Amino acid sequence: MNLFTKSSWIAGILCLIISLPMFAQEHLTYTLEPHLEAKKPYLKVSFSAKTNEQGILNLHYNDSFWGQRRLFDCLQNITTKPAAQKVDRQRDKDNIQIVGKPNTSYEITYHIVQDMGGPIEHKHCYRPIIQPTYLHSFGHRLFLLPLGALSNKEARLFTIRWRNIPRDFVVHNSFGGAPNQTLRLKEEELFSSIFVAGDFKRYIFTIKGNQVHFVVRGKWEKFNADQVAELLKKVIRNQRDFWKDHRDSLYTVTLMEIHTPMGSSVGGTNLHRSFATYCSKNKYTTFDLIKYLYNHELMHNWVGKKIINADEERQYWFSEGFTDYYTYKLMLKGGLIDLETYLKMVNQRILKPHYTSKIKNAPNDSLTYKNYWGNYAYQKLPYYRGSLYALLLDTQIKQKTKQRKSLDNLMFDLLKACTGKKSRRLDHQLFKKYLKRYLGKKSLKTFEQLIEKGQLIDFKDKLWKEIAVTTKEGYPQFTLADQTVAAALKQKLIK
Ligand SMILES: [Zn+2]
Repeated sequence: MNLFTKSSWIAGILCLIISLPMFAQEHLTYTLEPHLEAKKPYLKVSFSAKTNEQGILNLHYNDSFWGQRRLFDCLQNITTKPAAQKVDRQRDKDNIQIVGKPNTSYEITYHIVQDMGGPIEHKHCYRPIIQPTYLHSFGHRLFLLPLGALSNKEARLFTIRWRNIPRDFVVHNSFGGAPNQTLRLKEEELFSSIFVAGDFKRYIFTIKGNQVHFVVRGKWEKFNADQVAELLKKVIRNQRDFWKDHRDSLYTVTLMEIHTPMGSSVGGTNLHRSFATYCSKNKYTTFDLIKYLYNHELMHNWVGKKIINADEERQYWFSEGFTDYYTYKLMLKGGLIDLETYLKMVNQRILKPHYTSKIKNAPNDSLTYKNYWGNYAYQKLPYYRGSLYALLLDTQIKQKTKQRKSLDNLMFDLLKACTGKKSRRLDHQLFKKYLKRYLGKKSLKTFEQLIEKGQLIDFKDKLWKEIAVTTKEGYPQFTLADQTVAAALKQKLIK
């Protein structure tokens, strides 16, 4: 049966005609051409887009974004072909306005440059870095986008073509490593992507059929890129096995050396299907720091990204604290650290700073955006409080169920609840609902005392008998009750 009547055909054709110019605008093709040999290296970008009936074409570019200001300084030499009447840089509106002939296609070309000089430090990593042998930038710093061309509701076609790249020049972004890519993407995916090109080295490994890319440049005093690649392979496999979640089909981690005048600087940015990291090359950056960095940050692919906080800072005890607990637990389980190191890390990195902190008893409600971002002690509080609480819960669930269940099961339940059809956010109500299933009604009161009110945990007789808890120098410390029980304790901790 033919479902189309004559009038619906006409309406269909009309729709097609009306939507054609929109479609032409929507499938954008960007050509990226590095000119790194220039006295001031730049990335030349060009694309075509059409003006509207009034001869206006608005192009979006964020001047202030992700904590950075004056990003317009990285956007130079905007020209059009044919020449437009006016190219207006409207910094305060995050807009470049092209004024030309109505309904006319213009080829727009611009340069992305690095606007901060000096050796590359941590602060440079959040702006485009364009150096004589490489470039590094988040996606939103590279593309001038016609207003409304991309959307967060639906994925649209987007083509990226690299041109005139030297041989041995690696190009890579969060969407893969091909020099020509036609992608279907949402605006936020492009915005939170990473682009690198130049003298990087690319490692590709496959984990349960899914490719992981590690793209790296630099030399470090205490470790080398091969070691980091091996580490990453283990961490990503351990975590995906833990969650029984191998859904992320393609994943990229970038790493770049940075210069740090004093001490060590290690950091990363969690992005769309990727993670950008930077760390100083000096002797203060140990391999242990790198282990911690990847084990903690990549865990956020689940805790934080898939199990999302309902009220950001209010659930940092979970998204940061439980992430930290599983950082150490999975490092021990995966053989990345031994039991002695595990106990030492818990003592030195969690118990000591927490019990000696001036705000150790601050209630959870005092963890506001302002306090969190303005005060280092508040920033660290949810890590310590949450991870110690997680250790307590993990022990209690195992003890109650004779080790048939653990906190892991509660985590899997939360993942299911937060990624299921209803896709709930993690709030205290949801957490308590599942907590009660494992530890009964009494545990809800303990949750209120320890997490919401900020009471300290008294660990005496609460952990495994193989752990001796002694208070020294003003904070509780965990040690092995005696050497013969080391293997038994490890088994209990990693269960
Ligand atoms: Zn974190």
